[in-house]
Amino acid sequence: MTLRLHNTLSGAVEELKPLSPPEVRMYTCGPTVYNRAHIGNFRTFVATDVLRRALRHLGYKVTSVMNVTDVEDRIIKFAADAATDIKGFTEPWIAAFEQDMAAMRIEPHDHFPRATAHIPEMVALIERLTARGHTYTADGSIYFRIASLPEYGRLSRLDVAGIQAGTRVDNDRYEKENARDFVLWKLKSDEPKWAQWDAPFGPGRPGWHIECSAMSMKYLGETFDLHAGGVDLIFPHHENEIAQSQGGTGKPFVRHWFHVEHLLVDNETMSKSKGNFYMVRDLVDQGHRPDAIRYLLLQAHYRKKVNFSFEGLGHAVAALERIHSFVRRLPDASGDGPVTPEVEAAIAKAKQAFDEALSDDLNTPEALAAVHNLVSDGNSLLVNGLVSRSGAAALRATIEVFDRVLAVLLPSDEDRLSPEEQALFDERQDSRKRREFQRADEARKKLEGLGVILEDTPKGTRWRRGR
Ligand code: AMP
Ligand code: ZN
Repeated sequence: MTLRLHNTLSGAVEELKPLSPPEVRMYTCGPTVYNRAHIGNFRTFVATDVLRRALRHLGYKVTSVMNVTDVEDRIIKFAADAATDIKGFTEPWIAAFEQDMAAMRIEPHDHFPRATAHIPEMVALIERLTARGHTYTADGSIYFRIASLPEYGRLSRLDVAGIQAGTRVDNDRYEKENARDFVLWKLKSDEPKWAQWDAPFGPGRPGWHIECSAMSMKYLGETFDLHAGGVDLIFPHHENEIAQSQGGTGKPFVRHWFHVEHLLVDNETMSKSKGNFYMVRDLVDQGHRPDAIRYLLLQAHYRKKVNFSFEGLGHAVAALERIHSFVRRLPDASGDGPVTPEVEAAIAKAKQAFDEALSDDLNTPEALAAVHNLVSDGNSLLVNGLVSRSGAAALRATIEVFDRVLAVLLPSDEDRLSPEEQALFDERQDSRKRREFQRADEARKKLEGLGVILEDTPKGTRWRRGR
């Protein structure tokens, strides 16, 4: 099944057409690690996690990269204030981020590169840009000359005619009204030595935008399929990434741009001064359920604003409990009969609705509705004695398939496969389908090594813990 997805570049919902199907290569702009990430950040990261899982569900193979921005004005200031250096300061924040990602059931990315480990790649890209006439030096810093690239402004629909050529900006973040030549390499002789790198064009440090161009192209190629981030990154960050990459290579950079709308708190923009600023960690420490936070985020379509409130979180818990109690009831089914036509029909209807929802611009609220309909149908079939033990197993298996995308449907007190185990499980199933039995066997043995035993039954492969 194909995925129709909104593309910011064209402004339309269009079929995602990967360069080398079935592989989809995707990049998500990751966190700036000077603090814990807030629930707004996680709205974007959960949306891209579901996108990745949905792609896999629809038959694609995904290579996913998320960067870590670990060189930046605030990081350097805070590290200096704490009398440490970049690594000393950012390491605990990176660990905290990974902990929050796991709490939000976001799968680890295939690559999680840090900007500071990719300075040579950035320097090389700046040299390519210079060789192709896209840069100039002013006061020791290097700037991208936006007038040198006719397509500048296409992603953000900028009125290029209104831009004053030759004015420049040193900040990494600025408004669309102030579109200017932006900095690629900053001369910062007043900053600590540990925040400076040597380069053929003089010591300094990279601007924010160049890091994502350099790292995405390193891991995914000069042209790749999908690039994701929050809507606030469309301008200037993603516009500038396109300029740097296309300016440097002369090739198209990204085919499909995926942008996630913002999260509001009590219908207002989140801000520290308003006191409505929440970190995932604080909410979890206060006893709120991470699966309910994830559920709340999935209840809105990614292109609509989602509102966070404690009342909404309460509704999310109730909705989740409805699904979880159904899953817990399934083992009560009795009878050795086959799966009844009623159960078969309910499952077929749910699967179709679920897949159609995901394929239609990642419509997670509709996908959740398909799950709730299956729960309603399943509950009444249970009451009417139409669910045999094999019917219950089929219902459970369906919820498990849906949960590989949504990752909130199974009660969390239940055992589940870790992402690593799940990847091995999926690899074995795929290899078997392709009749690559040796690979399948290797995956099965690796799982056994992790204490997961597989059992192939007429109804599919089951797993249990054991040695
Ligand atoms: P930052 O660390 O500020 O670069 O943000 C990391 C990611 O979170 C980016 O993709 C931002 O667009 C996204 N983001 C920041 N604030 C929000 C918000 N309130 N709602 C949704 N996404 C956000
Ligand atoms: Zn980025």
